[in-house]
Amino acid sequence: MTNRELMERDLRHIWHPCTQMKDHETLPLIPIKRGEGVWLYDFDGRRYLDAISSWWVNLFGHANPHISEAVSRQARQLEHVLLAGFTHAPAVELAEKLAHLTPRGLEKVFFADNGSSAVEVALKMSYHAHRNRGEERSLFLSLSNSYHGETLGALSVGDVELYKETYEPLLIRNIQTPVPRDTSPEASREALKALEALLAERGKEISAFIVEPLVQGAGGMHMYGAEYLRGARELTRKYGVHLIADEIMTGFGRTGTMFACEQAGITPDFMTLSKGLTGGYLPLSVVMTLDEIYGLFYCDYSEYKAFLHSHSYTGNPLACAAALATLELFERENTLEVNHTKARRMAQNLQRFLELDTVKSIRQTGMIAAVEMIDYPAQERKGLEVYRYGLEHEVLLRPLGNVIYFMPPYVITEEQIDLMMEVAYEGMKSVGRGAL
Ligand SMILES: *Cc1c(COP(=O)(O)O)cnc(C)c1O
Repeated sequence: MTNRELMERDLRHIWHPCTQMKDHETLPLIPIKRGEGVWLYDFDGRRYLDAISSWWVNLFGHANPHISEAVSRQARQLEHVLLAGFTHAPAVELAEKLAHLTPRGLEKVFFADNGSSAVEVALKMSYHAHRNRGEERSLFLSLSNSYHGETLGALSVGDVELYKETYEPLLIRNIQTPVPRDTSPEASREALKALEALLAERGKEISAFIVEPLVQGAGGMHMYGAEYLRGARELTRKYGVHLIADEIMTGFGRTGTMFACEQAGITPDFMTLSKGLTGGYLPLSVVMTLDEIYGLFYCDYSEYKAFLHSHSYTGNPLACAAALATLELFERENTLEVNHTKARRMAQNLQRFLELDTVKSIRQTGMIAAVEMIDYPAQERKGLEVYRYGLEHEVLLRPLGNVIYFMPPYVITEEQIDLMMEVAYEGMKSVGRGAL
């Protein structure tokens, strides 16, 4: 089998996610045969360093022996059982672990099977919780430039025009408040003022305020400070609005702590987790919430009070086993500690990008680093040029517009960090030459 053969068969049938399929007339698809650590290998014997953890899901490398073994052991024991009326050890153990790891107070775990569905669960639960208390709040608040997934509810609270605009007539009621423009305390203070004004005016209509804590992923790795989260926690409490921390991307060490909320010392009313949860092995997500909210649904049988939401693969045992093995690796490898050194190495490499006249700014939070190019018009697709350059030089970078970012698996070595960032540097340099 060659790359070409598999690509041709693929394009006869597969409609790829987040893709203008016509692009593949000129941009080759890359069939991957196997993975090992940070590397992906194609069918023609080429390899690619996965600088973006395959859409932010992979934490401990591809085909990680420990996680693979746990999943295969679980597959021989129990592959799936419905989670309504039944339970299984991997789900129970994972729920216990998550309740222990997440901020104090998040004791209850609702399982779903992907990030967007976790966001849907959190939105519905929030609305329903207010309703069970006799309050009707049908409006949702989110940050400008936010991303929370692609299903209709999740899309409604997102603010990336490219994904949202077309479906506007189909969305649930939503408004946005400005995200702090950078990580400075002044930026947080300004944005909190706007939030307070909005809550004072419309707080009673709003069910929940959903945020990506510290880093807005799909919105171009935009970063802001913990002060904002602390302020938002106080204000939402004051106005009886739930706070949903969408840690689907930021969770599991990406921002330098296990969860981004820890850096603000806050407990949200809901926390959504997915992506890195299973180390990038299987789709799984959870919504963590407070006993107090759980209590609003807990009563003798009465119509409409219970949370009657489900997905067929809710709490799948294989996925839970992958998640447990992933959490074991955090302990065994002392990952958060070791990552500090790696984050420092990324920071050192990042400085160099400021020499390039194609670069506007750099930023970093923990294990996420980003380089923003100058404002090239979208149709010039400069990011795509860097992507192509990366592939020719063994690095998988997948820019978000003009933002090149690095979110590697934690098994990356310091030498590999240098390589990954060197290739991006040269790629951006060559893009600049093309423009002259
Ligand atoms: C990726 C992502 C989602 C959606 O998760 P999917 O599994 O892709 O549906 C939601 N919120 C954030 C912050 C994300 O990064």
